[in-house]
Amino acid sequence: MYVSTRGGEAISASQAILRGISENGGLYVPVSLPVWSREQILALAEIPYADRAAKVLADVLDDFDEEELLGYTRKAYASFSHPAVAPMRPLKGNIEVLELFHGPTLAFKDMALQMLPYLLTASARKQGETREIAILTATSGDTGKAALEGFKDVNGTSCTVFYPLGGVSHVQERQMLTSEGANVHVIGVTGNFDDAQTGVKQLFTSPEFIAQMNAKGRTLSSANSINLGRLAPQVAYYMSAAAEMMKKGVERFNVCVPTGNFGNILAAWYARKMGAPIEKLVCASNCNDVLTEFILTGRYNAARQFHLTISPSMDILVSSNLERLLFELCGCDPVKLSGMMKQLKEEKEYTMDADMLSVLQQTFIGYSADDTATKATIRAAYDSDAYVMDTHTAVAMYAVGQYRAQTGDDLPMLLVSTASPFKFAPAVTDALGLEAKENAFDSVRQLAAFGSLQIPASLGKLETAPTLHTLTCDRGAMGEAVMKAYEA
Ligand SMILES: *Cc1c(COP(=O)(O)O)cnc(C)c1O
Repeated sequence: MYVSTRGGEAISASQAILRGISENGGLYVPVSLPVWSREQILALAEIPYADRAAKVLADVLDDFDEEELLGYTRKAYASFSHPAVAPMRPLKGNIEVLELFHGPTLAFKDMALQMLPYLLTASARKQGETREIAILTATSGDTGKAALEGFKDVNGTSCTVFYPLGGVSHVQERQMLTSEGANVHVIGVTGNFDDAQTGVKQLFTSPEFIAQMNAKGRTLSSANSINLGRLAPQVAYYMSAAAEMMKKGVERFNVCVPTGNFGNILAAWYARKMGAPIEKLVCASNCNDVLTEFILTGRYNAARQFHLTISPSMDILVSSNLERLLFELCGCDPVKLSGMMKQLKEEKEYTMDADMLSVLQQTFIGYSADDTATKATIRAAYDSDAYVMDTHTAVAMYAVGQYRAQTGDDLPMLLVSTASPFKFAPAVTDALGLEAKENAFDSVRQLAAFGSLQIPASLGKLETAPTLHTLTCDRGAMGEAVMKAYEA
């Protein structure tokens, strides 16, 4: 069963997935999680990824069984270009890179968003929902394309993505604007990601907007990581990685995650609760370092300068999923949690009490990397291991160095790699000291030649694909823009 962080009745997984966010603005969290034995986790290492994911999900999502889920995971992960789906690559210094970017849109979002359409349409069936499910999503760059790809031409659904104009990489923007599918829409918003995300959250709680959509036979849901259907598949890859680590004889390890909306690292925390032998969770941020400060001091301060960086998918000041962690840290007290969230909304900041902070710090530690440090790290990883990593992964790699230097803790480290370096080729080639190109696709070719890497097939087609979406809107007019997109 699942409850909203801001209070209310417990509901089933399919209800939580269908609703996306609760009516009181809270996020759905599991009332309890199963705890797996060492043997149970280790056994995952012997079966294919789709089977691993089905086993984990069956234990997390109460009204889905393993056989049903296996039908979905086999289809969802068949679109990945690597047979292991989420392979691990060792680097010097006892680091294992968990590569989560082998899906169709080249970022880790595919791990969840290739699954979400199956979970969502199945949830609709289970709940007797016959209206069209209208997905609304804000993106810092990668969620958008992954959602469009996952939902395109899925019967009974439609998908609208908002992205911050000027706030995503050229490749990310091309990926979205060339999206095919009769049921998908892309809208550029004048504002940053937080504006787009806040706007979407407001639409979900706006009675007028909901009524307008309902009148057209549509019900709303979200593909953002606030949706339980996004979070659950992410827990699976941490259990899978834990199995691989244990199979190599590693009994305890740390995890470092490049973090924005706090969804990925939260999944690691859930896996830890389920028995994965994870010690510390290192939260890596770019110079939008709200989380670094928060983990160090307990003060969440979103009232600060927003920076555009070379790791744009982490350019976020309000990390939605943190609410789920805070809920547990305050003893699952919806009243206390609601108070903190209200304060954040009104004053752009809140401070947690010392008890909560000390529990947080037992597991989490945060570091941040500016663009200069990020580039130097890309270069260093190439020099040391001939490994080309993307800018987001490099932020985490930098944090690993900081963490180890500061604490002396040299436990094996699972470094979570969230995007293909090709997705951010101009920044990566710059970091590697290659000549700057005007066209991002020239940088892609340059990177392939330099690293003797193969250009992912989905990128090859992008350069010449026609632009299919041109709508833009002001951040205050997102509801009107949605209605316009459906009429077009
Ligand atoms: C979304 C994203 C992140 C941040 O993940 P969260 O779950 O939002 O913390 C990091 N790196 C890349 C490449 C992403 O697309």
